[in-house]
Amino acid sequence: MIKRSFIGLLKPRLEYGSLEETPSLKQIPIPKEITLLSNCPFDKKNLLLKKKATVKTGQKLLLYKESDEYVVSSVTGQVSSTSSYTGDFGRSYTAITIEVADDEEVDDEFKDISKDASLETIKNFLAFSPGNPLGNPPVKLFVDKDKSISTIVVCCADSDLLITTNRHVVKSDIDAVKEGISILKAATGVNDVVMIASHGQMHELSAIGEKVSQVNDTYPSALPHLIMKDILSKVVPAGKNPEDIGVGFISAEAVASIGKAFSNGQIPLTKILTLVKKDGSKSLVSARIGTPANDIFNAFNITLNEDDRIIFGGPMTGSSVYSENHPVQPDTDAIIIQDRDDIPVISDYPCTNCGDCLRVCPVNIQVGMLVRLLEGGHYEEAADQYDLYSCIECGLCSYVCVSGMPIFQYIRSAKYELGRANTAEATNNG
Ligand code: SF4
Ligand code: SF4
Repeated sequence: MIKRSFIGLLKPRLEYGSLEETPSLKQIPIPKEITLLSNCPFDKKNLLLKKKATVKTGQKLLLYKESDEYVVSSVTGQVSSTSSYTGDFGRSYTAITIEVADDEEVDDEFKDISKDASLETIKNFLAFSPGNPLGNPPVKLFVDKDKSISTIVVCCADSDLLITTNRHVVKSDIDAVKEGISILKAATGVNDVVMIASHGQMHELSAIGEKVSQVNDTYPSALPHLIMKDILSKVVPAGKNPEDIGVGFISAEAVASIGKAFSNGQIPLTKILTLVKKDGSKSLVSARIGTPANDIFNAFNITLNEDDRIIFGGPMTGSSVYSENHPVQPDTDAIIIQDRDDIPVISDYPCTNCGDCLRVCPVNIQVGMLVRLLEGGHYEEAADQYDLYSCIECGLCSYVCVSGMPIFQYIRSAKYELGRANTAEATNNG
């Protein structure tokens, strides 16, 4: 539920909704075709997977020579195309499209190896399972020798508004979460586990026997940087992430995937997400990873008009996608459809110096000053003088901006460009 305050007088109060507001889970049939995305840039010459290759459900598909990047097929079928997919800021991804066969056959490589619940097995087979962010799965973090994780935070609350994935997983499969935590502790040797609960979850989580802390009901309290500050009393330095100071975050869905994988001997391939329709009503959906959004819309008889907007992710931190066939990925927690008439206007009005963005920012960035530099493309000055890297990417500044400035997009774009420039410089310096 979103309650807008009188702008300028109070911070807006954006409340995480309750799970009870979401109806029961709808299973989407297996589509005719799925697409798996990897955040490796597309390189046709070195791609190991060729057109017409046959794949089984649950089969690990290594992508490139001399690389350990992989995806896991969520269906049985034949590779119908391999291509480059361009995401936010022109980022290149590798897209593998698979035409689904009539009969499903499950790959048994993981079943054989699942007797060994080691960190290597988790890293080598479960980085693409539901709940893992694309390209940066926590299961890889735990084996990164530079990180030295000493605390694991299991997020049972959902970080963005309208999303109910983690809460649904906890409610429907608490045993898998418990099993996943026990496997993770044994595999990593990390015994300090903190479970982050939302309102109403304390009782069911206390049965697991780990530490449980509750975030408050107001956005953005369930974002990792605020959990670090408010619950763990640790400050993450600007430009760093919790793992840089020894804290590994993992979602309840990803933990449950680990629990289920080793109990059943099969890699989980079904993603739980919230579908938010044009009228704001919500449905909880279960779909194979790679299912095109359009198959989900068809299952609900939803017709899109030209210029309607599709957002993958929550309303505050999600991104627009430009195709109805954009596929569900392991980290797709929501798909939101906005009617073209309800899309907030991005204006070219100048900043009015109202100060609302500064008042609302949870880390007290002088957003009005920052945005002036970002608009002019002065990214380094923005980082040096106005704390660009302290931004925790909550999106509240864009939400309150009376001039409709795309502040959040400016911030993300600046961080991306600076990241690219730093990587290029490091490469050039050898
Ligand atoms: S997105 Fe905006 S409000 Fe949120 S932390 Fe960054 S600058 Fe502050
Ligand atoms: S950027 Fe928007 S919210 Fe911030 S001071 Fe300017 S007009 Fe106000």
